[in-house]
Amino acid sequence: MIQVEGLSKYFGSIKAVDNLSFHVKPGEIVGLLGPNGAGKTTTMRCMCGITPASEGRVIIQGADLADDPITAKRELAFVPSEPRLFDYLTVREHLGFFARLYSAADSETRSLHRQKVQQSEQAGESLLQELDLGDRADYLPGALSRGMKQKLMIACALIHEPKILIFDEPFTGLDPHAIRKVRRIIQAHIAKGAAIIISSHLLGMVEDMISNAIILSQGQMLVEGSLKELRQRLSSEHQDADLEEIFIQLTSNNAQSPA
Ligand code: ATP
Repeated sequence: MIQVEGLSKYFGSIKAVDNLSFHVKPGEIVGLLGPNGAGKTTTMRCMCGITPASEGRVIIQGADLADDPITAKRELAFVPSEPRLFDYLTVREHLGFFARLYSAADSETRSLHRQKVQQSEQAGESLLQELDLGDRADYLPGALSRGMKQKLMIACALIHEPKILIFDEPFTGLDPHAIRKVRRIIQAHIAKGAAIIISSHLLGMVEDMISNAIILSQGQMLVEGSLKELRQRLSSEHQDADLEEIFIQLTSNNAQSPA
């Protein structure tokens, strides 16, 4: 469903992402992990077309992101780590705006367009309730807490029922209730066959969610696999290691260099 082939990104002399290839299938959640500066955000931004790749290809549902960006992005949602909202749109207006934005490309007829917008707006209302933003529907972003902004970003991203979701540190700044709700929402999308990529330093939080982990180091893929497969790379004394211990072992100074 989403394929990354030979992706590299240079910032001047810095190679932030170095010849990265992987794919994520429907119903899978892949954890994109790595130390600070490993290249996770840059990879995600390249996968969404926010940052152009220097080399390589990203293919979304068969559409090449560089050649056919509108088709590729239609089924995609990206939630960045820092909430970015419009200062003069209320919470409800944000949802209405995103509902119209994603329905616009399908407006072959006015009635079909209107129907899709209505469906998305209904989905937006239930997301507002689910994420406890119902009583803030008429607030501007300046009057929201950081966690509320984050929840609004998530609601905006999900309003068009995307098939591919890319979350950069989605749990940062959320309280335990909100974390539980967002986890449930993510699981519900997986059950419907979405493909999800999630980056997080909160490894205990994502450990039981992910089907596979990709650990990056200096822009390169250090390892990829299920937790069981990653444990097999460790010594016998670490065969019960949790994801945090696996991460520490594989990314410590003594660990192997990227393949
Ligand atoms: P963190 O866990 O700290 O969020 P990350 O794995 O998401 O880190 P990136 O933000 O992708 O890492 O950064 C990877 C590398 O690319 C770093 O060396 C960073 O300094 C560099 N980098 C990222 N964006 C830019 C930019 N716009 N200009 C120059 N260098 C950049």
